[in-house]
Parts: sequence; C-alpha cells; structure tokens
Amino acid sequence: MKNISIRLKITLWFSAIMLLITAVTFCAILWADYSVLQKTICDNLIETVEDNEDEIEFFKHYDDNESDRNADQYISYGNGYLEIDDDFLDKVNGISTALYRDTGELLYGENFLAKETQKLSFSDRVIQEVSSGGITYYVFDCALTSPGTENLWLRGIVSEEQGTQQFSSIVKLSAVALPVLLILAVIGGYWIASRALRPVHKITEAASQINQGRDLKKRIGLGEGSDELHELANVFDDMFRRLDSAFQAEQQFTSDASHELRTPVSVIMAQCEYTLEKKRTAAEYEEALGVIQRQGGRMSRLIDDMLCFARMEHSSGYPKERLNFSMLAEDICEDMSLLKTQNIILTWEVAPDIWINGSRMLLSRLLANLISNAYRYGKRDGEIHVRLIGGDKENILTVGDNGIGIPSDIQEKIFERFYRADSSRSSEGTGLGLAMVRDIAAYHGGSVEVSSEVGKGSVFSVRFPS
Ligand code: ADP
Repeated sequence: MKNISIRLKITLWFSAIMLLITAVTFCAILWADYSVLQKTICDNLIETVEDNEDEIEFFKHYDDNESDRNADQYISYGNGYLEIDDDFLDKVNGISTALYRDTGELLYGENFLAKETQKLSFSDRVIQEVSSGGITYYVFDCALTSPGTENLWLRGIVSEEQGTQQFSSIVKLSAVALPVLLILAVIGGYWIASRALRPVHKITEAASQINQGRDLKKRIGLGEGSDELHELANVFDDMFRRLDSAFQAEQQFTSDASHELRTPVSVIMAQCEYTLEKKRTAAEYEEALGVIQRQGGRMSRLIDDMLCFARMEHSSGYPKERLNFSMLAEDICEDMSLLKTQNIILTWEVAPDIWINGSRMLLSRLLANLISNAYRYGKRDGEIHVRLIGGDKENILTVGDNGIGIPSDIQEKIFERFYRADSSRSSEGTGLGLAMVRDIAAYHGGSVEVSSEVGKGSVFSVRFPS
C-alpha cells in the first residue's frame, strides 16, 4: 500500500464503498422482491382456494341441481351428493386444491404433498408452512360452510418457489444495471481523482525543478481557483517568493559586508605599506597608528553589528527579561546627553515604570543608535528630544531632532542594511544603525517609523506591545 499513488488509493476506497453500496442495494431489492413475491404467492393461494369453495355444493336429490350436468363432477356424500362445478381448479399456477373430509380422507382433487401434510391438522383460513426437501410449502385450509358441507375442508398447497423463475423485472434489471453502474462509477471515480490531483503533479514538478536547479525564481502558478490545492500552490508560491527575497537579501548583505570590510582593510594595508617604505618620525608612526586604530574600530563595529544581526535571526539569540524600560531609557539619555556633539542639547521626558519583556542589551542599542544618529545628523546648537509614553496596548518611544531631515523619497530606504544617504550627508556611519533599530523593534514584536522634513528635523517612533 506504501507505493500506491493517492489517486489509486482514492479509487480503491471509492470502488470498495461503491461495491458495498451496490451489494446492499441489490440485497435490499432482492429481499423486497422476495417478500412481495411470497405475499403474492400466498394471496393467490387464498384466492384460488376461496374461489374453489364456491364451486362445491351439496344436493340431496339429483334433480335439485340445475347447472350443466355433463361438465360437473358428482361425488356421493352422506345422504346426498356433492356437485363439483367444472370451474373448480384443482391444479392451477402451481396451486393444487383438494377436498377432504374432516377425518383427513381425500374426496376430490389433488395433493402433491399428501404425505407431508397428512399429519397437518386443518386450521381454518390460516396459512401454514410445511418443509420438504429443503423447500417450504404454504398450506391454506378452508372449512366449507354451505348447507350439507359442514364437515368438509378444502386444502390448497403451493411451493414458495412458485414464480421464482418469474423474478420481477426490477431484480433482473438491477442484476445487469448495478454492475454496469459500478464499473462506470469506478471509471468516473478514477477520472475525477486524476483530474483533482493533476495540480499536485504541477506542484511536485515545480518544487523539484526549484530543488534541482536551485532556481528560487520559479513559481508553480496554478492560476485562478480557490480549492485546497490552489491554496496550497499559492502558499508554496508565497514561500518561494519569501525565500527568494530572503536569499537575495542574504546575498546582498554578504556582498555589502565584504565590501564594507574591504575598505578599512585596504586603508590599513596602504597605511602600513606607506609607513614601512622608509624610516618615519615618531609623530608619523603615531599618525599611522591612529589611522589603523580608527579603521580597526570601524571594522570591529561592523563585525559587532553583523554578529548582532546573526544572533537576532534566532528567537533565543538574546534572552528576554522583564525590565523597567523607563529606567533604562533614562540612564541612556543621561549618559548620551554628556556628548553635547555640535553643542546639541539632549532632553527627555520618560513616563515612569514602563515594564517590558525584552533584552537590555538590544534595547540600549536601539536607543543609542537613534540618539547618535540625531547627534550625527543634527545641526549645530540643535536639540534632541526623547520621549517614552506608556499605553494599554503599546508603549511608544520617540527620538526627535531639529537636524538636517530626510528627503521623503529615501525615508523607506534608510531602514535597509548598509543604506546610507549621499556621502555629503553621511559621515563615518556603517549604514547598519537603522536596520538594526528596525530588527530590534521586530525582535520585541514592535515596529519603527519615521516622519521627517528636510531642513526641519526628524522624528523616529518605535512602538512596542505592552
Ligand atoms: P548610518 O551609519 O549612515 O548613520 P543608519 O542606518 O543609521 O546608517 O542611517 C541611514 C541613513 O539615514 C543615514 O545615512 C542618514 O542619511 C539617514 N538618517 C538616519 N538618522 C537620521 C536623522 N536623525 N536625521 C537625518 N537623517 C538621518
């Protein structure tokens, strides 16, 4: 059963059920027909015997009888005689009728089951059953009541098999039609199963092509439709689309990261080569080491950020704890307000005791990134304002500045990894700061958005679920 296709399995199950239904239906028809037939046999028996009852008369004198004397039968009986009309049917349609004295002596007619019914006592107008040779026979007795016939009985007998040869046409038709219908249903079932499962082949084909060729651009593309298989194909296509974009993002990230790392490495190498060309003064060595230290620091930050991204890919990368976000935000603001870069003033307004489930390390990094950007892209003597407000559903952290602002066409892009606006705006940043803010917000089930106007400043809002 293991290697049998679903199509064949469905067809086999379907056929088995259809066979069962057909068999039950046929048995029901057979049984119903048999019951009707038996009832008809018994009704015929009763009718024949009762009709024959009217054909027997008792006369005291021969002259009393005015009917057709030539055709009728006469039996002397008691102090007169019995006249059996020629309409008396002693053998008709498998029913034999015989006339008996109540002592059991046969007077007229025929009983093909005389031996078996000998001991069967007469019972007025009741169907009795007698078995012989595995066949059941119905016996119907009728006590005569007309004057002079009081002690006489008519006994009719018929076999249950009478008329089975003439089984109803419904049974015959069923015997032919049901197997034909069964075969048609099985063929139809196989065809429907094949049709219904055709999309599965398409899905398998597309999936194996993607697998073999590792071409994540391929789609199943079942087209219009709302059944389960179309749903499945659409889910697969969505999954391929997401895998494709994740794969591309990963490739982009790797190439960007290598590129970003190459620059400081090249600077360090060039600086070393240049410095080692000849003997240098102590001041020149110091300057060279300064360059190397700066580039080393840049590389270290970059590697740090990349590790942080990699750890955040796993939900358990940074363990979360229940922490007082208000206190954490205040501490960072306090520390960073000391920077006073370009004479920018940092102020804050933090609602007390906002607790969230998060990573202290990541949340500190998020706020520090936003504040350092605000310093970096702020104007001389400008302002930065940090605000944390709590709500029933979410807590909102905003970092606003009155710096250079961000053009609306790049506001979406600034959250991409390694994206930096034109070099005139950017300084020594890595282009990973806001991408990290977005990922940290997402790591905590939140989101980040920006509203900004060039020349007026920017406000970054991070929403965390409460
Ligand atoms: P970077 O290392 O370049 O700062 P980020 O990801 O932190 O990288 O920021 C991406 C870009 O978004 C920056 O290059 C800068 O142009 C813009 N940006 C970020 N913060 C601000 C801000 N507060 N004001 C103006 N521009 C900003």
